[in-house]
Amino acid sequence: MLSRLRDIVGDQHVLTDPDQTAGYLTDWTGRFTGVASAVVRPRTTAEVAAVMSLCAAECVPVCVQGGNTGLVGGSIPPSGPDVGAERGAAGPLLLSTTRMTDIGEVDTIGRCVGVQAGVTVEAVDAAAAAAGLAFGVDLAARASATAGGVVATNAGGIRMIRHGNTRAQILGIEAVLADGRILRRWSSLVKDNVGYDLPGLLAGSEGTLAVITGVLFRLVPALRETIVAVAGFDWVSDAIALIGTATDRGLTVEAAEIMTEAGVDLVHSHGHRRPLATPAPYLVLVEVSGTGDVEQAVVDLLAAAGIADAVLEPGPARALWSIRESHTESIARSTATPVVKLDVSVPIRALPQAFDDLSALAADDARPCRPILFGHVGDGNIHVNLLDVAEDDTRALTEKVFAIVTAHGGSISAEHGIGRAKTDWTHLGRSDVDLAVMRSVKDTFDPNGLLNPGVIFG
Ligand SMILES: Cc1cc2nc3c(=O)[nH]c(=O)nc-3n(C[C@H](O)[C@H](O)[C@H](O)COP(=O)(O)OP(=O)(O)OC[C@H]3O[C@@H](n4cnc5c(N)ncnc54)[C@H](O)[C@@H]3O)c2cc1C
Repeated sequence: MLSRLRDIVGDQHVLTDPDQTAGYLTDWTGRFTGVASAVVRPRTTAEVAAVMSLCAAECVPVCVQGGNTGLVGGSIPPSGPDVGAERGAAGPLLLSTTRMTDIGEVDTIGRCVGVQAGVTVEAVDAAAAAAGLAFGVDLAARASATAGGVVATNAGGIRMIRHGNTRAQILGIEAVLADGRILRRWSSLVKDNVGYDLPGLLAGSEGTLAVITGVLFRLVPALRETIVAVAGFDWVSDAIALIGTATDRGLTVEAAEIMTEAGVDLVHSHGHRRPLATPAPYLVLVEVSGTGDVEQAVVDLLAAAGIADAVLEPGPARALWSIRESHTESIARSTATPVVKLDVSVPIRALPQAFDDLSALAADDARPCRPILFGHVGDGNIHVNLLDVAEDDTRALTEKVFAIVTAHGGSISAEHGIGRAKTDWTHLGRSDVDLAVMRSVKDTFDPNGLLNPGVIFG
């Protein structure tokens, strides 16, 4: 098997040495580690197709990985007994797309660009910017997260409030199926209703249906001049109202993020500045654009909302943004145990109560933890981070969070997916019939269950 893989991708791209494979087998959080018989790094779609044909013939499971920044364990093979062994095959193979980095020419009239799956979000945006356009997906992991990864997780990110999720940015897709066939829908047509939306189906499939090898992304207009403001609030409801008022006043909300005092304190302890002189329970970062004097419009907006303390900077305002974007990393460096990360959403009207309920987890003496909450407030999305959780309490605390979320009519997975972390709870978000239809879609694409076993379906 290994020598045939070497024939396909070249000797140096089939890794078996533990020193070389270790980085591929632990996830970004350090919570998930896995085992693989080898890490294989194809360069072309034809090589992926040849690898998949071989794995299908030999019944070898394949786990797909892009930038390995996913936060639900989906990019890591299982750690338990060999998944392939029960079928008499070798353990799973980890297929990394990081060598698939070609970027096509930007079509400035059709406003799109075709890229290979391993191109990073940052590189897609840089190519778009060079042509006077922008990529509608952005997230703090932009330097590592890949085109294939953001499609496979249907990532949201900081521009979702403006441009929608990753699914909304897909015009075409190229993917290799579990049996090695290549599925290609690649057209810049914005209207094309011939049957089912298979590219849309692969968005959010988390590597369980096919290996995405290329994506034709639509591009959006470049960001106009913006103003970034960070303001302090006593109540989440007032923060939400500010975003609504900004829109009512004709401003375009490009991003709207919420942080708590505890989160900003943590980030500050890792070397970032405190944005405001006056402490406030909640801090909101809004980035807005508009016509006329946008800065004055933001000053007026904040004054009308009775904001006592705020800071304004013209975009990109990287230092202000870094306070929000450093949360994930500062949290990872501040917890005594692997952080329990639960990315959830609730209807926007329920956000204030959900914040209160989730913050109250800190008062549970029976299961101590330090909750740090932040998120994309305009999308009703809260990133719940529970620090210093004893291993034995992880499940009970996870269930408490999900009970709060479902009581508010929310989702147990807002934008990170199910991965391996949340497979036990999909019934909280989908009916039996819904889950059965999803299972039959999986069986149609991957009848032998070779692609990312254990992800989404457990
Ligand atoms: C600091 C930080 C900030 C983040 N912020 C956000 C955010 O704002 N919004 C958000 O949605 N996420 C966020 N994330 C999570 C993560 O960046 C996204 O889920 C991202 O889409 C993962 O991309 P990746 O290339 O790293 O994928 P990986 O982590 O490698 O994989 C993620 C999943 O996609 C599958 N996959 C990857 N590539 C392919 C492919 N080519 N074909 C088929 N399946 C594939 C994997 O099997 C796995 O199931 C953040 C993560 C970090 C570390």
